[in-house]
Amino acid sequence: MSGTLFTNVRILDGSGGHPVPGSVLVQGNRIKAVGRGNASIPTAGATVIDGAGATLMPGMCEAHTHFSWNDAATLAGIQTMPLEEHVLWCAKVAKKYLDAGFTSCVGAACAKPRLDVVIRNAIDAGQIPGPRYLAASQEITVPGALGDETLPHLPFPEFSFGVNVNGAEDMRRAVRMFLKYGVDSIKLNLSGDNFTPQSPADTAWMTDAEVAAAMEEVRMRGKRGTAHARSAASIKQALRHGIDVIYHASYTDDETLDMLEAARDRVFVAPGIAILYAMLHEAEPWGIPHEKAVQMGYQHEWDHAVESLKAMHKRGVRILFGGDYGFAFTPHCQNARDLEFFVKYLGFTPGEAIRCATQYGGQIMMKPDELGLIKEGYLADLLLVDGDPMANLAILREPKRMLAVMKDGVFAKQPEIAAERLWGRAA
Ligand SMILES: [Zn+2]
Repeated sequence: MSGTLFTNVRILDGSGGHPVPGSVLVQGNRIKAVGRGNASIPTAGATVIDGAGATLMPGMCEAHTHFSWNDAATLAGIQTMPLEEHVLWCAKVAKKYLDAGFTSCVGAACAKPRLDVVIRNAIDAGQIPGPRYLAASQEITVPGALGDETLPHLPFPEFSFGVNVNGAEDMRRAVRMFLKYGVDSIKLNLSGDNFTPQSPADTAWMTDAEVAAAMEEVRMRGKRGTAHARSAASIKQALRHGIDVIYHASYTDDETLDMLEAARDRVFVAPGIAILYAMLHEAEPWGIPHEKAVQMGYQHEWDHAVESLKAMHKRGVRILFGGDYGFAFTPHCQNARDLEFFVKYLGFTPGEAIRCATQYGGQIMMKPDELGLIKEGYLADLLLVDGDPMANLAILREPKRMLAVMKDGVFAKQPEIAAERLWGRAA
Protein backbone atom coordinates (compact mmCIF):
# COMPACT_ATOMS: atom_id res chain seq x y z
CA MET A 1 0.00 0.00 0.00
CA SER A 2 1.25 3.48 -0.75
CA GLY A 3 -0.25 6.88 -0.03
CA THR A 4 0.00 9.53 2.64
CA LEU A 5 -1.07 9.05 6.22
CA PHE A 6 -1.65 12.08 8.41
CA THR A 7 -1.38 11.04 12.04
CA ASN A 8 -1.76 12.99 15.24
CA VAL A 9 -4.02 15.62 13.66
CA ARG A 10 -7.19 17.31 14.79
CA ILE A 11 -9.70 16.50 12.06
CA LEU A 12 -11.97 19.41 11.20
CA ASP A 13 -14.16 17.62 8.70
CA GLY A 14 -15.80 20.71 7.17
CA SER A 15 -19.40 19.84 8.04
CA GLY A 16 -19.61 22.49 10.78
CA GLY A 17 -18.70 20.45 13.84
CA HIS A 18 -15.74 20.66 16.19
CA PRO A 19 -12.41 18.99 15.43
CA VAL A 20 -11.68 15.53 16.75
CA PRO A 21 -8.26 13.89 17.12
CA GLY A 22 -7.43 11.17 14.65
CA SER A 23 -5.63 10.21 11.47
CA VAL A 24 -6.45 10.32 7.76
CA LEU A 25 -5.14 8.14 4.95
CA VAL A 26 -4.94 9.39 1.36
CA GLN A 27 -4.48 7.01 -1.55
CA GLY A 28 -4.29 8.26 -5.09
CA ASN A 29 -6.41 11.38 -5.25
CA ARG A 30 -8.97 10.28 -2.64
CA ILE A 31 -9.40 10.01 1.09
CA LYS A 32 -9.20 6.30 1.74
CA ALA A 33 -9.81 6.17 5.48
CA VAL A 34 -10.63 8.46 8.39
CA GLY A 35 -9.69 7.17 11.84
CA ARG A 36 -11.22 9.07 14.71
CA GLY A 37 -9.67 8.90 18.17
CA ASN A 38 -7.45 5.86 18.50
CA ALA A 39 -9.03 3.94 15.64
CA SER A 40 -6.14 2.37 13.81
CA ILE A 41 -5.55 2.71 10.10
CA PRO A 42 -3.24 0.27 8.30
CA THR A 43 -0.07 2.20 7.60
CA ALA A 44 2.08 -0.22 5.68
CA GLY A 45 3.89 1.54 2.86
CA ALA A 46 2.29 4.93 3.42
CA THR A 47 4.35 8.06 3.95
CA VAL A 48 3.50 9.12 7.48
CA ILE A 49 3.16 12.75 8.37
CA ASP A 50 2.97 13.38 12.07
CA GLY A 51 0.79 16.46 12.32
CA ALA A 52 1.93 17.11 15.88
CA GLY A 53 -1.56 18.24 16.85
CA ALA A 54 -2.15 20.55 13.88
CA THR A 55 -5.61 20.83 12.30
CA LEU A 56 -6.38 18.86 9.15
CA MET A 57 -9.28 20.40 7.27
CA PRO A 58 -10.67 20.33 3.72
CA GLY A 59 -9.16 22.78 1.24
CA MET A 60 -11.13 26.02 1.11
CA CYS A 61 -13.26 27.16 -1.81
CA GLU A 62 -13.41 30.83 -2.77
CA ALA A 63 -16.85 31.36 -4.28
CA HIS A 64 -16.34 34.70 -5.99
CA THR A 65 -12.84 34.91 -7.42
CA HIS A 66 -11.24 37.34 -9.84
CA PHE A 67 -7.70 36.21 -10.66
CA SER A 68 -7.42 39.06 -13.17
CA TRP A 69 -8.15 41.85 -10.69
CA ASN A 70 -4.63 43.25 -10.35
CA ASP A 71 -4.80 45.05 -6.99
CA ALA A 72 -5.58 48.38 -8.75
CA ALA A 73 -7.91 50.93 -7.19
CA THR A 74 -10.05 51.45 -10.31
CA LEU A 75 -11.75 49.32 -12.95
CA ALA A 76 -9.72 51.10 -15.63
CA GLY A 77 -6.53 50.23 -13.74
CA ILE A 78 -7.42 46.57 -14.12
CA GLN A 79 -8.68 46.78 -17.68
CA THR A 80 -5.74 48.67 -19.17
CA MET A 81 -3.11 46.13 -18.13
CA PRO A 82 -1.72 44.77 -21.41
CA LEU A 83 -2.83 41.25 -22.25
CA GLU A 84 0.58 39.57 -22.01
CA GLU A 85 1.27 40.94 -18.54
CA HIS A 86 -2.29 40.13 -17.58
CA VAL A 87 -1.92 36.43 -18.39
CA LEU A 88 1.24 36.23 -16.29
CA TRP A 89 -0.48 38.09 -13.47
CA CYS A 90 -3.35 35.60 -13.43
CA ALA A 91 -0.96 32.65 -13.38
CA LYS A 92 0.88 34.17 -10.44
CA VAL A 93 -2.34 34.82 -8.54
CA ALA A 94 -3.66 31.30 -9.18
CA LYS A 95 -0.58 29.83 -7.51
CA LYS A 96 -0.89 32.28 -4.65
CA TYR A 97 -4.45 31.15 -3.97
CA LEU A 98 -3.47 27.50 -3.92
CA ASP A 99 -0.57 28.18 -1.54
CA ALA A 100 -2.94 30.14 0.71
CA GLY A 101 -5.19 27.10 1.09
CA PHE A 102 -7.78 27.70 -1.64
CA THR A 103 -7.92 24.40 -3.47
CA SER A 104 -11.06 25.47 -5.34
CA CYS A 105 -12.08 28.83 -6.76
CA VAL A 106 -15.22 29.85 -8.60
CA GLY A 107 -14.40 32.43 -11.24
CA ALA A 108 -16.79 35.35 -11.00
CA ALA A 109 -15.67 37.31 -14.09
CA CYS A 110 -12.38 38.19 -15.71
CA ALA A 111 -11.11 41.41 -17.20
CA LYS A 112 -10.47 40.23 -20.76
CA PRO A 113 -12.49 37.68 -22.71
CA ARG A 114 -10.33 34.53 -22.40
CA LEU A 115 -8.23 35.11 -19.27
CA ASP A 116 -10.20 32.75 -17.04
CA VAL A 117 -10.50 29.99 -19.63
CA VAL A 118 -6.80 30.06 -20.46
CA ILE A 119 -5.79 29.90 -16.80
CA ARG A 120 -8.25 27.07 -16.04
CA ASN A 121 -6.99 25.08 -19.01
CA ALA A 122 -3.36 25.62 -18.03
CA ILE A 123 -4.08 24.46 -14.47
CA ASP A 124 -5.99 21.40 -15.68
CA ALA A 125 -3.18 20.53 -18.09
CA GLY A 126 -0.59 20.75 -15.31
CA GLN A 127 1.22 23.65 -16.99
CA ILE A 128 0.84 25.94 -13.99
CA PRO A 129 -0.13 25.33 -10.37
CA GLY A 130 -3.52 26.56 -9.25
CA PRO A 131 -6.78 25.59 -7.60
CA ARG A 132 -9.60 23.64 -9.19
CA TYR A 133 -11.18 26.42 -11.16
CA LEU A 134 -14.47 27.25 -12.82
CA ALA A 135 -13.81 29.81 -15.54
CA ALA A 136 -16.07 32.82 -15.95
CA SER A 137 -16.84 35.17 -18.79
CA GLN A 138 -16.12 38.84 -18.61
CA GLU A 139 -18.89 40.80 -16.94
CA ILE A 140 -21.70 41.42 -19.39
CA THR A 141 -23.35 44.78 -18.93
CA VAL A 142 -25.52 47.35 -20.70
CA PRO A 143 -24.74 50.99 -21.59
CA GLY A 144 -24.43 53.14 -18.49
CA ALA A 145 -24.31 50.25 -16.02
CA LEU A 146 -21.49 48.80 -13.91
CA GLY A 147 -18.65 47.75 -16.19
CA ASP A 148 -19.44 50.07 -19.10
CA GLU A 149 -16.25 52.09 -19.00
CA THR A 150 -16.39 53.39 -22.56
CA LEU A 151 -16.10 57.15 -22.97
CA PRO A 152 -18.22 59.28 -25.31
CA HIS A 153 -15.16 60.24 -27.38
CA LEU A 154 -13.51 56.79 -27.08
CA PRO A 155 -16.29 54.31 -27.77
CA PHE A 156 -13.90 51.38 -28.16
CA PRO A 157 -14.98 48.12 -26.53
CA GLU A 158 -11.36 47.36 -25.53
CA PHE A 159 -11.55 50.24 -23.06
CA SER A 160 -14.55 48.74 -21.34
CA PHE A 161 -14.24 46.63 -18.24
CA GLY A 162 -17.35 44.64 -19.12
CA VAL A 163 -18.79 43.62 -22.47
CA ASN A 164 -21.48 46.07 -23.37
CA VAL A 165 -24.64 44.67 -24.95
CA ASN A 166 -27.76 46.40 -26.14
CA GLY A 167 -30.88 44.27 -26.55
CA ALA A 168 -31.62 40.55 -26.49
CA GLU A 169 -29.93 39.64 -29.77
CA ASP A 170 -26.79 41.54 -28.88
CA MET A 171 -26.78 39.68 -25.55
CA ARG A 172 -27.08 36.39 -27.41
CA ARG A 173 -24.06 37.30 -29.55
CA ALA A 174 -21.91 38.08 -26.51
CA VAL A 175 -22.99 34.99 -24.58
CA ARG A 176 -22.34 32.74 -27.57
CA MET A 177 -18.86 34.23 -27.93
CA PHE A 178 -17.96 33.35 -24.33
CA LEU A 179 -19.52 29.89 -24.62
CA LYS A 180 -17.44 29.32 -27.74
CA TYR A 181 -14.33 30.22 -25.75
CA GLY A 182 -15.24 27.52 -23.22
CA VAL A 183 -16.37 29.34 -20.07
CA ASP A 184 -18.09 27.46 -17.25
CA SER A 185 -20.31 30.41 -16.40
CA ILE A 186 -21.73 33.59 -17.84
CA LYS A 187 -21.70 36.63 -15.57
CA LEU A 188 -24.44 39.24 -15.91
CA ASN A 189 -24.32 42.62 -14.18
CA LEU A 190 -27.98 42.86 -13.25
CA SER A 191 -27.61 45.62 -10.66
CA GLY A 192 -25.47 48.68 -10.29
CA ASP A 193 -22.73 49.19 -7.73
CA ASN A 194 -21.80 52.09 -5.48
CA PHE A 195 -18.29 51.97 -6.96
CA THR A 196 -19.79 53.52 -10.11
CA PRO A 197 -21.89 56.50 -9.02
CA GLN A 198 -23.88 56.64 -12.27
CA SER A 199 -25.28 53.18 -11.51
CA PRO A 200 -25.63 52.74 -7.72
CA ALA A 201 -26.10 49.43 -5.91
CA ASP A 202 -29.85 49.60 -5.41
CA THR A 203 -30.68 49.86 -9.12
CA ALA A 204 -31.44 47.29 -11.84
CA TRP A 205 -30.36 47.53 -15.48
CA MET A 206 -31.15 44.64 -17.78
CA THR A 207 -34.46 43.88 -19.42
CA ASP A 208 -36.07 40.49 -18.86
CA ALA A 209 -35.71 39.86 -22.59
CA GLU A 210 -31.92 40.34 -22.35
CA VAL A 211 -31.57 38.04 -19.33
CA ALA A 212 -33.86 35.42 -20.90
CA ALA A 213 -31.79 35.39 -24.10
CA ALA A 214 -28.59 34.91 -22.09
CA MET A 215 -30.03 32.09 -20.00
CA GLU A 216 -31.50 30.32 -23.04
CA GLU A 217 -28.00 30.08 -24.50
CA VAL A 218 -26.47 29.13 -21.14
CA ARG A 219 -28.94 26.27 -20.68
CA MET A 220 -28.52 25.05 -24.23
CA ARG A 221 -24.82 24.49 -23.53
CA GLY A 222 -25.40 23.10 -20.03
CA LYS A 223 -23.52 25.95 -18.36
CA ARG A 224 -24.28 28.22 -15.42
CA GLY A 225 -25.54 31.77 -15.11
CA THR A 226 -24.17 34.03 -12.38
CA ALA A 227 -25.24 37.54 -11.46
CA HIS A 228 -23.89 40.67 -9.90
CA ALA A 229 -27.12 41.51 -8.06
CA ARG A 230 -27.11 44.00 -5.20
CA SER A 231 -30.64 45.40 -5.53
CA ALA A 232 -33.83 43.53 -4.61
CA ALA A 233 -35.17 43.89 -8.16
CA SER A 234 -32.00 42.35 -9.62
CA ILE A 235 -31.98 39.44 -7.14
CA LYS A 236 -35.60 38.65 -8.05
CA GLN A 237 -34.74 38.89 -11.73
CA ALA A 238 -31.86 36.44 -11.25
CA LEU A 239 -34.13 33.99 -9.45
CA ARG A 240 -36.91 34.31 -12.04
CA HIS A 241 -34.50 33.39 -14.81
CA GLY A 242 -32.86 30.43 -13.09
CA ILE A 243 -29.49 31.99 -12.31
CA ASP A 244 -27.76 29.78 -9.72
CA VAL A 245 -25.07 31.99 -8.25
CA ILE A 246 -26.03 35.37 -6.86
CA TYR A 247 -23.23 37.72 -5.94
CA HIS A 248 -23.76 40.37 -3.22
CA ALA A 249 -27.55 40.24 -2.58
CA SER A 250 -27.39 43.31 -0.34
CA TYR A 251 -30.92 44.64 -0.61
CA THR A 252 -33.86 42.37 0.08
CA ASP A 253 -37.53 42.69 0.94
CA ASP A 254 -39.89 39.96 2.17
CA GLU A 255 -40.69 38.84 -1.36
CA THR A 256 -36.98 38.52 -2.23
CA LEU A 257 -36.28 36.54 0.94
CA ASP A 258 -39.25 34.24 0.26
CA MET A 259 -38.00 33.62 -3.27
CA LEU A 260 -34.45 32.96 -2.06
CA GLU A 261 -35.72 30.52 0.56
CA ALA A 262 -37.86 28.70 -2.00
CA ALA A 263 -34.79 28.29 -4.22
CA ARG A 264 -32.31 27.49 -1.44
CA ASP A 265 -31.47 24.00 -2.68
CA ARG A 266 -30.46 25.45 -6.02
CA VAL A 267 -28.94 28.88 -5.41
CA PHE A 268 -25.75 30.06 -3.78
CA VAL A 269 -25.25 33.57 -2.41
CA ALA A 270 -21.69 34.88 -2.23
CA PRO A 271 -21.93 38.39 -0.80
CA GLY A 272 -18.30 39.49 -0.65
CA ILE A 273 -19.04 41.76 2.28
CA ALA A 274 -15.42 42.57 3.12
CA ILE A 275 -15.23 45.03 0.26
CA LEU A 276 -18.13 47.04 1.69
CA TYR A 277 -16.29 47.22 5.00
CA ALA A 278 -13.00 48.10 3.30
CA MET A 279 -14.57 50.90 1.27
CA LEU A 280 -16.10 52.36 4.43
CA HIS A 281 -13.14 52.09 6.75
CA GLU A 282 -9.92 51.37 4.88
CA ALA A 283 -9.97 53.08 1.48
CA GLU A 284 -8.68 56.52 2.50
CA PRO A 285 -5.18 55.90 1.08
CA TRP A 286 -6.84 55.54 -2.34
CA GLY A 287 -8.81 58.77 -2.07
CA ILE A 288 -11.98 57.43 -0.45
CA PRO A 289 -12.16 58.69 3.14
CA HIS A 290 -15.02 57.41 5.32
CA GLU A 291 -17.28 60.43 4.64
CA LYS A 292 -16.91 59.96 0.91
CA ALA A 293 -17.70 56.24 1.16
CA VAL A 294 -20.83 57.08 3.15
CA GLN A 295 -21.78 59.60 0.48
CA MET A 296 -21.26 56.95 -2.20
CA GLY A 297 -23.84 54.81 -0.40
CA TYR A 298 -21.62 52.21 1.25
CA GLN A 299 -22.97 52.68 4.79
CA HIS A 300 -26.53 52.36 3.51
CA GLU A 301 -25.59 49.19 1.63
CA TRP A 302 -23.62 47.72 4.55
CA ASP A 303 -26.58 48.22 6.92
CA HIS A 304 -28.97 46.56 4.47
CA ALA A 305 -26.56 43.77 3.54
CA VAL A 306 -26.02 42.79 7.18
CA GLU A 307 -29.78 42.53 7.76
CA SER A 308 -30.40 40.71 4.46
CA LEU A 309 -27.66 38.14 5.04
CA LYS A 310 -28.72 37.49 8.63
CA ALA A 311 -32.25 36.82 7.36
CA MET A 312 -30.99 34.53 4.57
CA HIS A 313 -28.85 32.60 7.03
CA LYS A 314 -31.88 32.05 9.30
CA ARG A 315 -33.87 30.80 6.31
CA GLY A 316 -31.23 28.25 5.39
CA VAL A 317 -29.98 29.94 2.22
CA ARG A 318 -26.41 28.84 1.49
CA ILE A 319 -24.10 31.82 1.93
CA LEU A 320 -20.55 31.30 0.68
CA PHE A 321 -17.44 33.20 1.39
CA GLY A 322 -15.09 35.22 -0.74
CA GLY A 323 -15.59 38.01 -3.13
CA ASP A 324 -13.95 40.86 -4.92
CA TYR A 325 -10.47 40.41 -3.57
CA GLY A 326 -7.91 41.84 -5.96
CA PHE A 327 -8.58 45.54 -5.51
CA ALA A 328 -6.11 47.84 -3.76
CA PHE A 329 -8.39 47.94 -0.71
CA THR A 330 -9.01 44.16 -0.67
CA PRO A 331 -5.74 42.48 -1.68
CA HIS A 332 -5.68 38.88 -2.92
CA CYS A 333 -5.44 36.07 -0.38
CA GLN A 334 -6.89 37.98 2.53
CA ASN A 335 -10.17 36.32 1.47
CA ALA A 336 -10.62 34.28 4.64
CA ARG A 337 -11.40 37.58 6.35
CA ASP A 338 -14.95 37.06 5.10
CA LEU A 339 -15.27 34.13 7.52
CA GLU A 340 -14.39 36.38 10.45
CA PHE A 341 -16.98 38.89 9.25
CA PHE A 342 -19.65 36.18 8.98
CA VAL A 343 -19.13 35.47 12.69
CA LYS A 344 -18.67 39.05 13.83
CA TYR A 345 -21.49 40.71 11.89
CA LEU A 346 -23.87 38.02 10.61
CA GLY A 347 -24.28 35.76 13.63
CA PHE A 348 -22.62 32.63 12.20
CA THR A 349 -20.88 30.20 14.52
CA PRO A 350 -17.23 29.55 13.57
CA GLY A 351 -18.26 26.05 12.46
CA GLU A 352 -20.96 27.47 10.19
CA ALA A 353 -18.47 29.93 8.74
CA ILE A 354 -15.97 27.16 7.97
CA ARG A 355 -18.71 25.07 6.35
CA CYS A 356 -19.25 27.99 3.91
CA ALA A 357 -15.70 27.42 2.67
CA THR A 358 -15.67 23.62 2.75
CA GLN A 359 -18.91 21.62 2.37
CA TYR A 360 -20.73 24.41 0.50
CA GLY A 361 -17.58 24.87 -1.55
CA GLY A 362 -17.86 21.31 -2.86
CA GLN A 363 -21.47 22.02 -3.72
CA ILE A 364 -20.82 25.23 -5.66
CA MET A 365 -17.96 23.42 -7.48
CA MET A 366 -20.65 20.97 -8.69
CA LYS A 367 -19.09 18.08 -6.79
CA PRO A 368 -21.48 17.86 -3.82
CA ASP A 369 -20.77 14.19 -3.09
CA GLU A 370 -17.00 14.16 -3.44
CA LEU A 371 -15.50 17.52 -2.52
CA GLY A 372 -15.41 19.76 0.55
CA LEU A 373 -15.40 17.29 3.43
CA ILE A 374 -12.94 14.97 5.13
CA LYS A 375 -14.81 11.79 4.46
CA GLU A 376 -13.99 8.37 3.02
CA GLY A 377 -14.09 8.45 -0.76
CA TYR A 378 -13.91 12.23 -1.06
CA LEU A 379 -11.27 13.96 -3.18
CA ALA A 380 -8.09 14.59 -1.21
CA ASP A 381 -8.01 18.40 -1.04
CA LEU A 382 -6.60 18.97 2.44
CA LEU A 383 -4.96 21.66 4.54
CA LEU A 384 -2.67 21.13 7.51
CA VAL A 385 -3.12 24.23 9.64
CA ASP A 386 -1.02 25.31 12.59
CA GLY A 387 -3.63 26.08 15.25
CA ASP A 388 -7.38 25.77 15.62
CA PRO A 389 -9.39 27.81 13.07
CA MET A 390 -12.52 27.27 15.16
CA ALA A 391 -10.89 29.23 17.97
CA ASN A 392 -9.34 31.85 15.70
CA LEU A 393 -10.47 32.13 12.09
CA ALA A 394 -7.82 34.76 11.39
CA ILE A 395 -5.10 32.10 11.21
CA LEU A 396 -6.59 31.03 7.87
CA ARG A 397 -5.16 34.15 6.28
CA GLU A 398 -1.67 33.77 7.71
CA PRO A 399 0.55 32.04 5.13
CA LYS A 400 2.96 30.66 7.72
CA ARG A 401 0.10 28.85 9.48
CA MET A 402 -0.66 26.90 6.30
CA LEU A 403 1.75 24.04 6.97
CA ALA A 404 0.72 21.96 3.98
CA VAL A 405 -1.72 22.15 1.09
CA MET A 406 -2.81 19.04 -0.80
CA LYS A 407 -4.90 19.18 -3.96
CA ASP A 408 -6.19 16.04 -5.62
CA GLY A 409 -3.91 13.87 -3.51
CA VAL A 410 -0.73 15.78 -4.39
CA PHE A 411 1.04 18.29 -2.18
CA ALA A 412 0.91 21.80 -3.64
CA LYS A 413 2.74 22.93 -0.54
CA GLN A 414 4.83 20.26 1.13
CA PRO A 415 4.99 20.10 4.89
CA GLU A 416 8.48 21.17 5.87
CA ILE A 417 10.77 18.29 6.63
CA ALA A 418 11.93 20.11 9.72
CA ALA A 419 12.72 17.13 11.88
CA GLU A 420 12.78 13.38 11.63
CA ARG A 421 9.99 13.17 14.10
CA LEU A 422 7.64 14.78 11.58
CA TRP A 423 8.40 12.22 8.92
CA GLY A 424 8.86 8.54 8.87
CA ARG A 425 8.04 5.55 6.79
CA ALA A 426 5.98 3.04 8.66
CA ALA A 427 7.06 -0.54 8.61
ZN1 LIG B 1 -17.07 40.44 -8.09
